[in-house]
Amino acid sequence: MALTIIEGCVNCWACVPVCPSEAIYEAQPHFLIDARKCTECEGDHALPQCASICPIEGVILNAVGEAINPPGSLTGIPPERMAEVMAELQSH
Ligand code: SF4
Ligand code: SF4
Repeated sequence: MALTIIEGCVNCWACVPVCPSEAIYEAQPHFLIDARKCTECEGDHALPQCASICPIEGVILNAVGEAINPPGSLTGIPPERMAEVMAELQSH
């Protein structure tokens, strides 16, 4: 079982040093997780360390493809409100 980094990752490097398995590597267009190395942090930490430190919502998925930090989970802004604000901004 392994986590996945997807589009939206801003290549900030924050997750690289906290991974106990050295599973995260620099790639294009964004960082990736080596599925053969990722242990989901089991045995080392209670929570996946990459997802715990990642500042961007929605870019790290669990083994079944769900965002560990879904929209709104880090900013506290409900996704519906964010959509309204973005629509407002784009209308100007
Ligand atoms: S879940 Fe843990 S082992 Fe897997 S990439 Fe993230 S920090 Fe590394
Ligand atoms: S912490 Fe998140 S945004 Fe930063 S490199 Fe890792 S996955 Fe990408």
